[in-house]
Amino acid sequence: MSASTDDDRMRAVQVPEAGGGFEVVERDVPEPGPEEVRVAVDACGVCHSDAFLEEGQWPGVDYPRIPGHEVVGEIDAVGERVDAWTAGERVGVGWHGGHCFTCEPCRRDDFIACENGRVTGFDHDGGYAEYLTTPQESLARVPDGLAPDAAAPLLCAGVTTYNALRNSGAKPGDLVAVQGVGGLGHLGIQYAHAAGFETVAVSRGTEKRELALDLGADHYVDSEATDPGTALAELGGARVVLGTAPNAAAMESLVGGLGVDGRLIAVGIPGEPLDVPVQPLVQQRQSVAGWPSGDARDSQDTLEFSALRGIESTIETYPLGDAGTAYERMLDGDARFRAVIEP
Ligand SMILES: [Zn+2]
Ligand SMILES: [Zn+2]
Repeated sequence: MSASTDDDRMRAVQVPEAGGGFEVVERDVPEPGPEEVRVAVDACGVCHSDAFLEEGQWPGVDYPRIPGHEVVGEIDAVGERVDAWTAGERVGVGWHGGHCFTCEPCRRDDFIACENGRVTGFDHDGGYAEYLTTPQESLARVPDGLAPDAAAPLLCAGVTTYNALRNSGAKPGDLVAVQGVGGLGHLGIQYAHAAGFETVAVSRGTEKRELALDLGADHYVDSEATDPGTALAELGGARVVLGTAPNAAAMESLVGGLGVDGRLIAVGIPGEPLDVPVQPLVQQRQSVAGWPSGDARDSQDTLEFSALRGIESTIETYPLGDAGTAYERMLDGDARFRAVIEP
C-alpha cells in the first residue's frame, strides 16, 4: 500500500460530478460509524456498472463519489457496536452495500431486494481508495488461498454469475450457454463447468475460442460464423442462457436457442430494451429474466466455492492513479478480462 502524506489522509479516485471523469484526490481517512468497519483496500475491480456512476445514470447519487464495488482488503478498525468482526480479518465488499433489516423483503431475509438497500460506490464511497468504511452486514470473509487482486472481481462479476447459475434451475448435465467471454463471462464459464453443466461459450469471432475451452467450455459458438440460436438448438436447446455481455442484439439472437423451460437470464445490462418473440416463450414455457448479484453471504459462498475449485478471475492490475485508464479499457472491452486497481 502506497503511503499518504500523513496518517490521517488517504489517496482516492473520485467522480467529481456526473460525466466528470475520474480525479485523484487526497481525502481524510474515514472513521467507521457504530455498526461499520473500516477496510484497508488491497484491490478493487473495475465493473461495467461503474459507468452508471461516471455517466450520471444512477438516481440519488451525492457527488463527488468514490466508485468501486469489487473490494478486497483487511479490516483495520471496527465501530463500537461491531462484535462479529475484528481488525486484521481479510474481507470482501461487493455491490450490496447494506440493508435496513426492517422492510418487507428484509423481513423475509431477501436482503438483495431491500427497499432501502445501499450500493457500494453509489450510496456511499467505494473501493477506488486506500480505505473505505462499510456497514458490517456488507462483509464477506475471504478464504485463505485467494490472492486479493484475483479475488476482487469475484465480489461482483463472480457472485453475479455464480448466484444466477445456482438459482437458475439448471441441473448437472443440462445445456447452459454463457453469452460473452469477458469480465463476467469468463467467470460464468468456469462456474457452469464446475457445476456440471454441459457448457457452451458464445462470442464473436474465433479469438476467444481456445481460452473458452481452457476455462471449461464443452462447446464454442462463433456468433459471427453461425446463427448462435440455431447452434444452441442443434445442441438440444439450452436450459439456461446467461447473458453477460451488455448487448441487446446478442442476447436476442440466443432466445431461439432455448429449449423447453429454457431461461435467458440477463446479468449484463444493455442500454436498449430486449425485443423477443413471445409465441415460443408461451409454447415452450420459456422465460426472459434477470438476476442481481447477491448479498454478502452469497459473495462469501462465491469466494469459498472459487477457492474450493480453483476458480479465479483473469486480471490486469493498475495503480490507483491509473484508474481512468483501467476504466477506459473495461469500457472498450479491451481488458483481459477484469481490470483491477491496487491502491
Ligand atoms: Zn459490478
Ligand atoms: Zn430492507
